[in-house]
Amino acid sequence: MVGFLRIISYALFAYIVYKSIRFYLKLSQKSNSPPKSKQISGQMVKDTICNTYLPQEDAIKEIIEGKEYFFCSKECRQKFLESKK
Ligand SMILES: [Zn+2]
Repeated sequence: MVGFLRIISYALFAYIVYKSIRFYLKLSQKSNSPPKSKQISGQMVKDTICNTYLPQEDAIKEIIEGKEYFFCSKECRQKFLESKK
């Protein structure tokens, strides 16, 4: 009977080890490969027309004379382009 209990406890131990290894593998996989959909840099850019800051991912980017400008909306971009004329 003692032998049987030892086998049970070994099996339980092996099962716990297996579970925790799987758990850690899952964690490391998550941190190594972030979701491809939308990578957020966390960088904030300024809309020079309405003076608001917004995430670069959400901003409309315009390169004018080699310089990058960011706008919160098409309206702001349009205003800026018109002011440049
Ligand atoms: Zn704006």
